[in-house]
Amino acid sequence: MVFITFHGGVREIGGNRILIEDSDAKLWLDFGRSFSAERRFYTGWLQPRSHSQLPDLLEFDLIPRLRGLYAQRHLEGSPIPHEEPQYDAVFISHAHADHVDYVRFLDPSIPIYCGSGTKLFLEASEEIGHIAYGKHSYKTFRTGDRIRIGDVEVEPIHVDHSIPAAYGFIIHTSSGSIVYTGDLRRHGPKGEMTEEFLEAAAKTEPEALIIEGTKIHEETKRISEEEVYIGVLGVLEKAEGKAVFYTQNRRDTDRFKTFYKAAKTSGRRLVITTWTAHLLSKLVEDEHLDLPDPMKDENIAIYFRRKKSGRYREKDYYQWERPYLERMVTAEEIRRRPGEYLVCLELHHFPELIDIRPQGGHYIYSMSEHMEEEVLEEGVMRNWLSHFSLRLHQLHASGHMSREELLKAVETINPEKVYPIHTEHPKLFMKLLREWKVETPTRGRSYGL
Ligand SMILES: [Zn+2]
Repeated sequence: MVFITFHGGVREIGGNRILIEDSDAKLWLDFGRSFSAERRFYTGWLQPRSHSQLPDLLEFDLIPRLRGLYAQRHLEGSPIPHEEPQYDAVFISHAHADHVDYVRFLDPSIPIYCGSGTKLFLEASEEIGHIAYGKHSYKTFRTGDRIRIGDVEVEPIHVDHSIPAAYGFIIHTSSGSIVYTGDLRRHGPKGEMTEEFLEAAAKTEPEALIIEGTKIHEETKRISEEEVYIGVLGVLEKAEGKAVFYTQNRRDTDRFKTFYKAAKTSGRRLVITTWTAHLLSKLVEDEHLDLPDPMKDENIAIYFRRKKSGRYREKDYYQWERPYLERMVTAEEIRRRPGEYLVCLELHHFPELIDIRPQGGHYIYSMSEHMEEEVLEEGVMRNWLSHFSLRLHQLHASGHMSREELLKAVETINPEKVYPIHTEHPKLFMKLLREWKVETPTRGRSYGL
């Protein structure tokens, strides 16, 4: 008998943690962080204690209470004793926090399978000190691989999403196949990858489809990455000599390419953060991603904020930032020639505007709608923009399928049963897919195939 248990992603966007069991084989699909669940107990400065993160999450059932899963060092002070691992593998669909973050608590002897691009993302995050995933045995895969775990075979297939190296999985079990979409879209620059996944999934005549439903409740028309590009270009044309700033999701390299291309076309240099420079320097290793090298590309400059000494001294910066100093651009330079740059400005770096002192110009908010790593109240943002006479533009293409596309994906795959996850509105799938067996999962409950 094969069982699917949903330990997260239930009536919430994110926190995907799905357990598949087939006789002796036990494997997880994603092991992410539940932002919305966490927000019930932790908010702003009120966070799990750094020495007791796992026990502080277990206290409120914000992470599965299971034995033989977590690392000994994280279990100290928790009600769960450490036991030999009882799980064979964790398969990560992509490197968004709501799919991968809680991997850091797992026992290091449980192997983590992910795309090679995903591994580069995790390494970059660790190197800049954002998050410590800890030591794990990582095994990377590519589309077309088949990974055997006991009686189960897992087939990863690339999909298009707002981060590179995103995959869906076909899990071949002893009772037929289970399809897991991860997060995906059809309207991005690599929409054909999603098509390939859907077709391959359909061919296996699956028993179960575990599908994301982030956008199932929205009827509004979505815009494509190409339309974002045209919008950005329009803003740059209007800007003539004035400053243009933008904020985007750090891990969305498609959006990076959009701004890069628009800057190049309009004869401006793209100014990126040291973190983006570091991420790109790693991702250029993966030639499939086709990204520019921030150390070599003349269209890219790297913004350095004044720190400690206030004088751009090498020792003011982290070790990982120092190699990029040779491509440095400063607030003073942008103030002198605002029309020569298109500047990435992260929300928590808004005080840089005090040094750059733009004399009017434009600001493009180009962020995804969920799982933001940083949240700035809209009122606060508007106050800053109006203080510096910057005009606000909102341009964003979602990383997720629209309602119509989701329904069409179910039709294409034609599964025996549909399990909607990664949505706050799973019941809508029932309403919209009357001819299909839709099961809205309950957290912690096992469903037999
Ligand atoms: Zn995602």
